[in-house]
Amino acid sequence: MSSVPSCPSCRQPMEVHRFASHAGPELELDICFACQGMWFDRHENLKLAPAAVVGLFKLLHEHREDQHLPLATSMACPRCVAPLQKGFDVVRSGRYMIYRCGRQHGRFSTFSSFMTEKGFVRHMTRPEIDDMAKRVGAIYCTSCGAPVDIRKDHACPYCRAAFSLIDPQAVARAMEGYAEAGARAKLHAAQAAPVDIGDALVALERDRTRAERERQKKAFTSTSDDDDSSITGDLLAVGVGLVWAMLKAS
Ligand SMILES: [Zn+2]
Ligand SMILES: [Zn+2]
Ligand SMILES: [Zn+2]
Repeated sequence: MSSVPSCPSCRQPMEVHRFASHAGPELELDICFACQGMWFDRHENLKLAPAAVVGLFKLLHEHREDQHLPLATSMACPRCVAPLQKGFDVVRSGRYMIYRCGRQHGRFSTFSSFMTEKGFVRHMTRPEIDDMAKRVGAIYCTSCGAPVDIRKDHACPYCRAAFSLIDPQAVARAMEGYAEAGARAKLHAAQAAPVDIGDALVALERDRTRAERERQKKAFTSTSDDDDSSITGDLLAVGVGLVWAMLKAS
């Protein structure tokens, strides 16, 4: 690819990142961190090697405090600018949304959809949902990205997906074939550590609020409230953080 493709959603240039593939040359993935999504040329998503998945988690973790944009209602193919067609794919761990070019150029996938597609998510248990409802008012649906009131709704009212969470154990299982024996043992130890998701959500949002305040200070705009009750928990970012902590420990 000679030119940098535009994000199908916000139309800004995407970041091009190179990743190891199972066979043949490296893969180039085009990523937009603001829109939380990436573009896969035809079949690219099937070829990511485990080392590339590790690299991807590292990148997502590094960008955890980036500002997010809502997805545009109409998206354009970065190769031919034709409108992308929205559809659902189904895997064992759930349904996920995908945006395809009708001319077979490829597909735009949100980070959440990618995690679901790879089998990296699991459904949340009722006690987990109840506990989280006490800590945060809303969460972003892992399936479609919409903010959802978890105290009222039992599934996402927009895409009907059950509440799900990145599962470090599922990621670890996928990595095991790749990790060396020593790393594998540490992987097991790391994934056995229990984590309070509610705590992790609140901590992440505090970091983000702080980062946002820094940004506003730099822009010389005034800032007023830093109110915890308006938190919308970002399960995806929390899950990425947990996985990255595990991968780093191994
Ligand atoms: Zn974008
Ligand atoms: Zn196209
Ligand atoms: Zn949803």
